[in-house]
Amino acid sequence: MAAVVAIDGANGNRLPVRPTYGSPCNGCGYCCVTQACAVALEHIPDHPAEGPCQAMEYEDGRFVCGMIRRPGHYMRLPNDWADEVIGDMIATALGAGRGCDAEF
Ligand code: SF4
Ligand code: SF4
Repeated sequence: MAAVVAIDGANGNRLPVRPTYGSPCNGCGYCCVTQACAVALEHIPDHPAEGPCQAMEYEDGRFVCGMIRRPGHYMRLPNDWADEVIGDMIATALGAGRGCDAEF
């Protein structure tokens, strides 16, 4: 697979191999590269309906969700004071930490 330019900060590093369904999420990024979720499509202005999510970021050898980490940046809010609260709400909505649920 070609490099995904949508991942912010990867600098050419490779992501982990996708685990099996139900395994702990290892940050492979497959789900979000394949299809941006409803959070991205509804809250990132002008996000394309198809293609990788524009909020994919790279940290410590894995993909991380930028809408959890710094939602104000992607939502184009004037400041980041609400990032922690909004990021927590998005993490809950996405089920972050519940294991890989990418079936496709
Ligand atoms: S949920 Fe699954 S496919 Fe998505 S990043 Fe985590 S391990 Fe990869
Ligand atoms: S908003 Fe986060 S969980 Fe949703 S597709 Fe983008 S990176 Fe993945």
